[in-house]
Amino acid sequence: MLHQHDVKNIINMLKDPTYWHISYKAIRSMLGKRSPFYGSADVTNYCNLHCSHCYWWASRNSSMQELSVEGWKRVIDEIFKKRYNVVHVYLLGGEPYLRPDVIELFSKEMHGKCTVVTNATLPILFFKGIVLYIFSVDGPREVHDMIRGKTYDRVRQNITEFTSTYGRKGKGFYTTVNVTINSLNYKHVARMVDEWEDVVEGMVFQFYTPFSENDPLWLPFGRERDTLIDELIRLKREHYGFILNTEAQLNVSRRPWGNRCPNWMCVAVDAFGRIKSPCSMGSADPDMPSPICERCGCLGNCLAYTYGLRGDPGKEYNVYARDAYAGNSMYEPSQLHQ
Ligand code: SF4
Ligand code: SF4
Repeated sequence: MLHQHDVKNIINMLKDPTYWHISYKAIRSMLGKRSPFYGSADVTNYCNLHCSHCYWWASRNSSMQELSVEGWKRVIDEIFKKRYNVVHVYLLGGEPYLRPDVIELFSKEMHGKCTVVTNATLPILFFKGIVLYIFSVDGPREVHDMIRGKTYDRVRQNITEFTSTYGRKGKGFYTTVNVTINSLNYKHVARMVDEWEDVVEGMVFQFYTPFSENDPLWLPFGRERDTLIDELIRLKREHYGFILNTEAQLNVSRRPWGNRCPNWMCVAVDAFGRIKSPCSMGSADPDMPSPICERCGCLGNCLAYTYGLRGDPGKEYNVYARDAYAGNSMYEPSQLHQ
C-alpha cells in the first residue's frame, strides 16, 4: 500500500517539468537516439582539502589553466544545452565554493537544474536556482576528521547555519548529507543518521569506489557489506523519508554491477572543459588512474540504472543472494557479467 509520503512525492513528480524532460529523453533513448540525461562539471581545479578517499586528487592535472566564467558559459551553451540538452548538472570540484562565480553562472543559466556538492568547509552561499545542496560528511567527528582532516566542527557549523537560515528544504531546494562508505566509517552509519536527522532534509549513502586492486579503503563484497546494507535498510524503514536511497538501490550495492553501468547517461566535464571518461570519477587524460568499475559504489549512473533502465534490480539481487550464500560469501566478479 502506498504511504501518504509516497503519494505526495508522486503528485510533486508529475508537476515537475524535470519529470517530463526525463520522460522525453527516455523515450528518445528507447527509440535508439540516446544522449546523456545529466552532466557533471568540475567547476574548479582546486580544493582546500586532501581527503584520503579522493578520486579527484588521484587524477588531477596541474599543468592546465581552469576555465574562466566565459569558458563555462561556452560549455553550458555548447555541451550541456545544445549538444545534449541535459536535464540536470552536478557542480563538483575540487571544492565548488572556491568558484562561487561559476556556481552563480550555472544557477542562472541552468536555473532549477543544478546541484552543488560541497565539503562545506567554506561559508555556504545560497543561490536561487540551485535545487540541491549536497554536503559531504564521512563519519562522526573523529572518523570524519581522520578521513577529511580536522574539519568536522566547521562543517557542522556551516551546514547548521545554512539550514537554520534558509531551511532544510524550501521552495525549490533541498539539502542532504552524503556519506561515502569505506572501511574506516562503515560501523558508524546509525550514529551519523542520529547526528544529522535534525539538521538536513535527507541523507544518502554511497560506497567508496577503489582505483587499485588492494585499496584498503574499499569495503569488499561479502557478509560484512551485506550486514551493513541490511542495517541501512533497517534505518531507512525506521527513519522514513530521511534516508533517500531506495531499498533496490542499496541492494544493488551488494555485488558488482559496474560492467553494466550506463555511463553514457552522464557527460562529465573537467575543469578545463574536456569530457572525462569513463565518468565523473575518471579523467580526460588517458594516462591517469581509472576507477575499478566492477567495484563501483557510486550512485550517479547507478541511480539511473536502478530507477530506469533495468527494471527491478531487487530481482537480480535474489538470484545473487541465493548463489552467494550457497557456499562462498565472497562474490566473484567473473560470475556476473556473462
Ligand atoms: S573535498 Fe572532495 S575534492 Fe576535495 S579532497 Fe575531499 S573528496 Fe577530494
Ligand atoms: S566507476 Fe562506476 S559510475 Fe564510473 S563508469 Fe565505472 S561503474 Fe560507472
